Amino acid sequence: MSGGSEISKHPRAESLRIREQLTRHVQSGVVSFAGLIAHGRGEAFDYLLGEKTIPSALKAIKAAAGVLLIAKKPVLSVNGNAAALCSREIIELAEATDAKLEVNLYHRLPGRDSAIEKLLKETGAREVLGVGEAASARIEEVHSDRRRVDPKGILIADTVFVPLEDGDRTEALRRMGKTVITVDLNPLSRTAQLASITIVDNIVRAMPILVSEAKKLKSQSIEEIREKVLSFDNREAISDAMRIMEERLRDLSLKGVYIDLGGNK
Ligand code: ATP
Ligand code: MG
Repeated sequence: MSGGSEISKHPRAESLRIREQLTRHVQSGVVSFAGLIAHGRGEAFDYLLGEKTIPSALKAIKAAAGVLLIAKKPVLSVNGNAAALCSREIIELAEATDAKLEVNLYHRLPGRDSAIEKLLKETGAREVLGVGEAASARIEEVHSDRRRVDPKGILIADTVFVPLEDGDRTEALRRMGKTVITVDLNPLSRTAQLASITIVDNIVRAMPILVSEAKKLKSQSIEEIREKVLSFDNREAISDAMRIMEERLRDLSLKGVYIDLGGNK
């Protein structure tokens, strides 16, 4: 991929910019190769969604902000893709909701956790859990490296924010009785299906809204926040995302060709 000026003229400039950001972070050790594949899968669902934040995702974002504010021990779990795409917003969310930040990786290759810690600290994070020996506790339900967590963070958390997460871990966290919030463009993924709150949206669109909703809600009483959270139905939100994808595809299929060459045919 060539430089920035070529990208800015491209009809899918924003999507290319994000891809470049992720590729750069493969070089810095933050993103794994598997992270690039995961991103591609997300992008495919974003096409179907129409690349915008749908109203039911906005409802899920508001509920997520409320749940994080009510939580006694909230933790934001950060993997390579999340750090590469929106470390600033993740830190802002941690500050707005008094949540801890913990690096948690699917592929815990040597140095990846400290590369993510470095990026978060350079962006303004004060404390980052789960790095190196600090990830000394084990979630027994999960096999492999992914079970390693920080005894000061995810292990004792009541609510965990796990954007772009793998299904095994989401299931294990739910089995441990934790409230799990995710951002996942694929409403069919196990994570989307098993989370307590599923935000079906691109993380780059959802995070700034989540931060501003948390800041707005913060001035309200716990009772008011709790009432709003209780009226949220995750099944409904997931169904709505699927319905929107299905309707969009059906409408487009009636036309068949919806991109043409204009006058150059
Ligand atoms: P699961 O393990 O939950 O069954 P999976 O194996 O397909 O699903 P993983 O690679 O474990 O998925 O997790 C990554 C998830 O994040 C995928 O569902 C993918 O669609 C989603 N995803 C990737 N990039 C983004 C993004 N930018 N915004 C939102 N979701 C994304
Ligand atoms: Mg998976």
